[in-house]
Amino acid sequence: MNDNIRVLNGYILEYCPDSKYSMKSKNWNGWVYQHMLVLEKLGIEIHNGYEVHHLDEDKQNNHVSNLIVLTKADHTKLHNWLSNKNKSNYKKKIVKCVYCGKILQHSQSTYCSIACKNKAQLKKPEKEKLLKKTLLEISETYGVTKKTARNWFKSYNIMWKK
Ligand SMILES: [Zn+2]
Ligand SMILES: [Zn+2]
Repeated sequence: MNDNIRVLNGYILEYCPDSKYSMKSKNWNGWVYQHMLVLEKLGIEIHNGYEVHHLDEDKQNNHVSNLIVLTKADHTKLHNWLSNKNKSNYKKKIVKCVYCGKILQHSQSTYCSIACKNKAQLKKPEKEKLLKKTLLEISETYGVTKKTARNWFKSYNIMWKK
């Protein structure tokens, strides 16, 4: 990078005191956000209360096709929406029936059906049988998933060993 380029908070700055968007602060006097400069050169005005958003969310991709001017409020809304979207994608993990392993539609449920729930309950051993056994031993002995075994331990309020 040349001497006229710096990075601040992940954004590229250019030294250009002639820009009307150049900063007046002590440390950054004459420096301007490159994305603002790009728009200024095109004659696109960034009015007070407006901000520039990077469409691909790469703060350093200042190609004009990547920039859009939004009100501050809308920009905040957009970023809230984007971060929620990322969160929900992240959360969307596959949840399986703890008895038969079938993929569940609702991540809140534990069993795919009443039948599985009943079967799991029927198989559930007495509290004494679970004591001193590991999770793995229980799941192998009773032919259930570790999650089912874990639920059994939980239902009796006993800690399990892995
Ligand atoms: Zn943005
Ligand atoms: Zn099932």
